[in-house]
Order: sequence, then C-alpha cells, then structure tokens
Amino acid sequence: MNDQVQRKNLAKKSSGEPKKEYQKVRIKDTEFCVGDTVQILVNENEYSYGTIERIWWHQRRGKPKAEIRAYFKPKDLFENTEIFSEAELFDSNLVQTIDIESIEGKVLVLEFQTYYQEDYWEENIFFSRAKWNTKTRQLEPPIKDWMKVCICNQIFNPDKQYSYCDKCGSFFHSECVEEAAKEGKIYADCPKCPEI
Ligand SMILES: [Zn+2]
Ligand SMILES: [Zn+2]
Repeated sequence: MNDQVQRKNLAKKSSGEPKKEYQKVRIKDTEFCVGDTVQILVNENEYSYGTIERIWWHQRRGKPKAEIRAYFKPKDLFENTEIFSEAELFDSNLVQTIDIESIEGKVLVLEFQTYYQEDYWEENIFFSRAKWNTKTRQLEPPIKDWMKVCICNQIFNPDKQYSYCDKCGSFFHSECVEEAAKEGKIYADCPKCPEI
C-alpha cells in the first residue's frame, strides 16, 4: 500500500469539513485513548496492529474514525518468516485511517530486551526490535545487525527454547552444545565462559 497516496486522500477529505477530535473513545465497554496500541479486525480471524494517533468524528455523517500508525507483521513483509517470533511486530511510519468500530482490543508492544528478559508469553503482548521504513522498504536496524545467540550465531528468536548462562547472560540451543560435544568440544558450564 502507498502511504503517501493515503495521506493525501485523507488531507483532501478533511479540508474545510467541521470535525471534532477526541482524546478517547469507548468501544464495547473499553476506553481507548490516543497513544494506545490496539488490535484491529481486518477480516475474519485476521488482525492488524497500530498505535492510535488521532480520533475524530464528523458527527453529521460517517462513523467515528481513528488514525493509526501501523505495525507490520513479519508475514506482511517476508515470504519466509521462520526466523521471526510469533510476537514480533515492526514499527513504521505508515499512517492509516480506520473505522473506530474495527478496534478489537488493546495490546502491548515492548522493547525487545524487555520482552525476552521478563518472559512475557501472553497473546496480547508483542515486541518490536526494528522499524519498517516504507520509503526504502528496509528494516532498521537490518536483520544482519540483530542480536545473535549460541555458538551457531543465529538470530535470537524468543519463541525457541534456549539454555541460559547466568554468568555471561548468553543463550544456547541445547542441540548445538550437544552437537559440539559429539565433536569433542566439552564445555564445563557454558561455551562462552572460560573454563574454571
Ligand atoms: Zn545454536
Ligand atoms: Zn556463560
């Protein structure tokens, strides 16, 4: 989708029209405010996510609207999503206008570090470790600069099982440590900590 075209349309539609802006809105017993990150129903069982930037309503016509700064899901951008987490979202500058009534609930998008350190595994909790630049069509920072773990040096995916070293804070796949053991590399405790 072209966000520039969308923004221009929005400007055209709203010029000269009396409209009232709101800081919050109540939908099905939940109060949503500007700044809240929300889940939006796109189709049956298909959701998108975004942060509310504005809420407005032309009271005489139309439905209450929200302007949303969109988060992208890995599958919106990549064919192969294997390296990504189920809880992964990418922040962006794409602003879209939606009907308020398509908002389904609130979600939380955490910094990546907070997410994996606190062990969040709830459905409505996500993290963002990169931003999708809609102009360059690149992630910032790029995937090659993301945190890597284990002796195999793979991108850290918090959905996967890792063993963790309390001393150096490193994560390891048990399979990789076992594989290394087969090749004769036996680690006392952790492959990264010097043996005592
Ligand atoms: Zn590994
Ligand atoms: Zn260690």
